[in-house]
Amino acid sequence: SKVWQLVRRPQGLPTLDDFKCVQQQVPPCSDGDVIVEAVSLSVDPYMRSRARNLPLGSTMFGSQVARVIESKNNDYKVGSLMVHYQGWRTHTHITTQDIANPANMIKPLPDMEGLPASLGLGVIGMPGNTAYFGLLELCEPKAGDTVLVNGAAGAVGSAVVQIAKMKGCKVIAFAGSDEKVAWVKELGADHVFNYKTTDVGKALTETAPQKINCYFDNVGGQFTAEALPHMATFGRIAVCGAISTYNEEKKGVVMTSPLSEGTMIMCQLRVEGFLVTRWANRWMEGLNQMKRWVLDGKVKYKETITNGFENMPKAFIGLFHGDNIGKAVVMP
Ligand code: NDP
Repeated sequence: SKVWQLVRRPQGLPTLDDFKCVQQQVPPCSDGDVIVEAVSLSVDPYMRSRARNLPLGSTMFGSQVARVIESKNNDYKVGSLMVHYQGWRTHTHITTQDIANPANMIKPLPDMEGLPASLGLGVIGMPGNTAYFGLLELCEPKAGDTVLVNGAAGAVGSAVVQIAKMKGCKVIAFAGSDEKVAWVKELGADHVFNYKTTDVGKALTETAPQKINCYFDNVGGQFTAEALPHMATFGRIAVCGAISTYNEEKKGVVMTSPLSEGTMIMCQLRVEGFLVTRWANRWMEGLNQMKRWVLDGKVKYKETITNGFENMPKAFIGLFHGDNIGKAVVMP
């Protein structure tokens, strides 16, 4: 197997030299085991946090859609597809114990009904569920509410925009390029801005005169500082991600928060951080609903595909330069 290891602790923005590709022998397939080959691999912003704690020399953490190429496990037939989180590797030996441990989140790929298998890493996978549960459970959008979402052309944000529109909300969205802005408009958002060329506070004053009821935050940092004064009384903030702070290291403090207690008190805000794994027991509900919406044309998606397993670090680093529209995926 080809395997990407973390060999140097990233300082600020990760660089190619933080990673090394090595060859590893795949152990023989014993009773209950399977051997799988990567079909498409995910790069996600959360991997930056993992790189902070992962012992140097370890396989980079991550998920992939993989095809079973050898099986001594009746639940996984040769040729079938699964999603696993065993890291950045082309071939993986998975034991019965690995499969039995729910923490490993090894699952057969749901029947994609003709849709590309790689969507199991995106809109019909973890990011889709992040949008689905994070928005619906924590922001509780109601028809007529104003919803603010940043990172709106990304894997999570693009789904949030579309689910909020289906719920009858007014959606104000921000993304990092004019091309992304155009796509998010196509997805139905009412007002879309390029945050790199727009005064966020001014844009919100103009487009949210009745203030913001729901804020789905993928970015944190300065963006949140500018958005907070525009929250409505009893507003709900789902703190999903803080990508603008992931490469900051200040005296060991990782994610510094700009949330002002004054605004939280005066506007009686509900601010809730979450991990999508909170809904592990409702995982298939989310995936099935997202799949239905995709099949019915109600949720559109894009993927930014990088070809070549050798380009995993490049695709990962690209997330922090805004290289991807929709889900960033690597085809080995
Ligand atoms: P995306 O597909 O949105 O990719 C990352 C995007 O973030 C980039 O394309 C870029 O878009 C934007 N970005 C990068 N750097 C900055 C910056 N400094 N300021 C503002 N935007 C930036 O990733 P995902 O949809 O997978 O994830 C979105 C967020 O959700 C992340 O913060 C992630 O950590 C979080 N997340 C949280 C989960 C949870 O369980 N809580 C689960 C999954 C994701 P642009 O061009 O617009 O800047």
